Amino acid sequence: MTDQLFYVWITLTGLFVGSFLNVVIYRYPYEEVTVSNPRRSRCPKCQHQLAWYENVPLVSWTLQRGRCRHCAAPVPWRYPLVEGLTAGLWLLAAVHAGGVAHWPLVLVHVLVLSGLVVATFVDIDCLEIPDSVSIGGMVVGPLLCLAVPEVHRDSWVARELAGAGPVGPMHALTASLAGLAVGWGVLFVIGWLGARAFGKEAMGFGDVKLLGAGGAFVGPGGVVLALMAASVLASIAGLLNMARFYALIRGRARRRGVAKPLGKALARARALGRYIPFGPYLAVGIGIALLYWNDVASRLL
Ligand SMILES: [Zn+2]
Repeated sequence: MTDQLFYVWITLTGLFVGSFLNVVIYRYPYEEVTVSNPRRSRCPKCQHQLAWYENVPLVSWTLQRGRCRHCAAPVPWRYPLVEGLTAGLWLLAAVHAGGVAHWPLVLVHVLVLSGLVVATFVDIDCLEIPDSVSIGGMVVGPLLCLAVPEVHRDSWVARELAGAGPVGPMHALTASLAGLAVGWGVLFVIGWLGARAFGKEAMGFGDVKLLGAGGAFVGPGGVVLALMAASVLASIAGLLNMARFYALIRGRARRRGVAKPLGKALARARALGRYIPFGPYLAVGIGIALLYWNDVASRLL
């Protein structure tokens, strides 16, 4: 297979997997359904069972202009977003790995990226990260790295251990376990200190497990990078969120004709805007470390 054909194939596969991830994300909070039961998706409004042609990734949503064909209930744009995002990430992973010759590495990367997509959207919806992704990643991570040492071809620890030669299974396994320990440990300590300092849970345990799982794939250097990227992104998002609440509070006060004191509005906006899930930012950080800057530690040292 040529690389071009491989890229087309992986993008299309990513689209259909993205469609499947939508089901995983949507059904996660419901106890009575699983991913395979019921087999076919229904419109949540009119219960109409979707035919295959109403379920084609991106295409159906576009042709139906984002509405159910039967009751015209709006279908959230998040569905095509997750499909497009997954397809884009799969293509990125394939190109980054170096094409079809590196298919085992591509396989590991698309698996990790798909898990991160699920973790992101479930965390946004339910403020929790599925254990199947976080604990699952911690369990299969080291095993996959043992099988595909190339995953750690840029990891600092693995490179140091390998010396001039290629990264072997034992080097990759060591980097994976070190990454897992550092990822899990760093957030666990931050959470523990935060809980002692503020008397409440500062860091969700789901985040601890997610960074542990990510660490297994990006190594200890990648973990530090992922955490830094996540912190910067979450701070920016937190500030924007506070600004949004601040504008809301001030606007409402103005409409009512009462002058809300500036300081009071700010304090309220801070309290409301602080609660944003950290998981999505961690997931983006891990993704960046996985595909692009895993070698940042070796470059710096
Ligand atoms: Zn409907």
